[in-house]
Amino acid sequence: MENFIYCNPTKILFGKGQIFNLGSEIKNYSNKILFVYGGESIRKNGVYNEVLKQLNRYNIIFFELSGVVPNPRISLIKKGIEICREKGIGFILAVGGGSTIDTAKTIAAAVKYDGDPWDLFVKRIPIKEALPIGTVLTIAATGSEMNDTAVITNWEKHEKRMISAEALYPKFSILDPECTYTVPNNQTVFGSIDIMIHLLEQYFHHDQETMVQDVLCEGLLKTVIKYLTMALKDPEDYNARANLMWASSLALNGLIGSGVISDWTTHRIGQEISAIYDIPHGESLAIVWPHWAKYVMEEGYGKFKQYATNVWGANDEHKTDKEIAIEGIDMTEKFFSKMGVGYRLNYLKIYEKDIEIIAGKVVEPGPVGNFKKLYKEDVIQILKKCFY
Ligand code: NAP
Ligand code: FE
Repeated sequence: MENFIYCNPTKILFGKGQIFNLGSEIKNYSNKILFVYGGESIRKNGVYNEVLKQLNRYNIIFFELSGVVPNPRISLIKKGIEICREKGIGFILAVGGGSTIDTAKTIAAAVKYDGDPWDLFVKRIPIKEALPIGTVLTIAATGSEMNDTAVITNWEKHEKRMISAEALYPKFSILDPECTYTVPNNQTVFGSIDIMIHLLEQYFHHDQETMVQDVLCEGLLKTVIKYLTMALKDPEDYNARANLMWASSLALNGLIGSGVISDWTTHRIGQEISAIYDIPHGESLAIVWPHWAKYVMEEGYGKFKQYATNVWGANDEHKTDKEIAIEGIDMTEKFFSKMGVGYRLNYLKIYEKDIEIIAGKVVEPGPVGNFKKLYKEDVIQILKKCFY
């Protein structure tokens, strides 16, 4: 196991009615806030009204920034920075999913930076300070509610990049599974696939003595597989929503990634596809992961066999490790398509002519991957398999 330092400072308030603590939590930081959210969903399901009641009850002055879209844009962030500077904002509240939280994180960091906020993503300028942020999570997916990362798209440049810094951890996150009852089935699937891929990208490494991390990963994967199916059948199944929500945070809050060398190739490829075609994050991942897996599996059939056996119950002593490894990948792919995702890129009206451009952007910062290091030609080969 690799050395690590683990410290996750985000306070989690989990369960029914935790939104009643929102006002008092915010008051610990500031009386003047920016309230960031996406489209209509929080107005329709009543979360917006609950937030407003809390802000009014605690006499918190707030300015709204709405209109965050999935694959959030740097352009809206610039508007948020202006409001923060003009009004002397002391705290940012994000109410929504990963897109809203990532927007809030980026505004929080960029307010403290004088240059173009996109510099933070491409010039890798260290982020030493940021405004404090808090979140009310409304969809189980990214783990952004409990981590130090933000992923943002520059639509003009067709680039999707990330920043990470200690200052970006939310001070608190309110996780009420009831807030996710209204998430439509397709978004529930995209979010759950995102959780699964976060787990898989941290699971596939070459250290064979990381049982703690492996068992946690396998358990969380089985959790998502079980409760996704249940949430789709009954969107108001509290236990299903609760398990998905907590799995989302645990999958990417640093816990299972500590002590291992992760491999984020599927995310890198998926992100660059989304940056050109604006397709849902989870959908891009579902298509890419099985092809990444088949491309790299010869580097470690043993780990793929472990995955197939412990997560999918594949078990046949007459089969070789390679055959069982393939079975696990196939079972994953079948599960994705049963959930309605993970078909081919051409189904999403993505053109093969763009493979070269996408692959170029994926490796622009350097070769990707640790399970197997991949260069542009490798990424092209994987992308080709994602068609037809
Ligand atoms: P999202 O993009 O925040 O939201 C997806 C959709 O779900 C939106 O249309 C939103 O509608 C809707 N929605 C959210 N909550 C809802 C509710 N309770 N009821 C009904 N509809 C609801 O989804 P996400 O998957 O959480 O975030 C994806 C983004 O996060 C991607 O850009 C991805 O790259 C990034 N990401 C970040 C991290 C990280 O660590 N920071 C990790 C992985 C991925 P409204 O707009 O109307 O609310
Ligand atoms: Fe993700």
